[in-house]
Amino acid sequence: MSTDPGVRVGTGFDIHAFAEGRPLVLGGVTIPHERGLAGHSDADALLHAVCDALLGAAALGDIGSHFPDSDPAYRGMSSLELLRRTAALVATAGWRAHQVDCSVLAEAPRIGPYRDRMRRAIAGALDIPENRVGLKATTAEGLGFVGRREGIAAHAVCLLVRITGTVAP
Ligand code: MG
Repeated sequence: MSTDPGVRVGTGFDIHAFAEGRPLVLGGVTIPHERGLAGHSDADALLHAVCDALLGAAALGDIGSHFPDSDPAYRGMSSLELLRRTAALVATAGWRAHQVDCSVLAEAPRIGPYRDRMRRAIAGALDIPENRVGLKATTAEGLGFVGRREGIAAHAVCLLVRITGTVAP
C-alpha cells in the first residue's frame, strides 16, 4: 500500500463585473478606483479564487456551496472573513494551507502598488508567512471582458499539507 504524501493541490478562479457606486476591494485591500465590483459579499474576486483553491485542494466543494449568495448572512461580508472561515473548514478536514500563488487579470487599476498589502492580508487570514503568498497581475491587452474593462478575473493555486497527527482519508 502506498503512503499518502500528505499534500494536496487546488485551483480557484473567479470573475466579478465592475459596478458603479461600490468600493473596489481586492485581496482584502480597498483600492481607490472609480468603480468597485458587483457581488453579494464585498465581491473580492481574488480572495474568492483563493477560497476555491483551498476548498478544491481539500475536495470540499466550492465557495458557493459553503457561503451561498442566497444567504443574507453573507451580504456585504468581508471576503477576508470568508477566507478565514474557509481555512477553518479545511482545518477541520485535517489540512492547512502551506502556500498560495495567485494572478489578477485587470486592465485597471494597477495592482503593483497594493501587491504587498494584499499578500500580507492573505497570509494573515491563512496564518502563514508572507513569503508563501505569490501575487502577479496582468492586463488582457485590450482583449475580452477584462480588456473592455467590464470586470476583473483572478486565478489561484494552493498547496495544502496534512496537519501533524491527522491521517489523510
Ligand atoms: Mg466571487
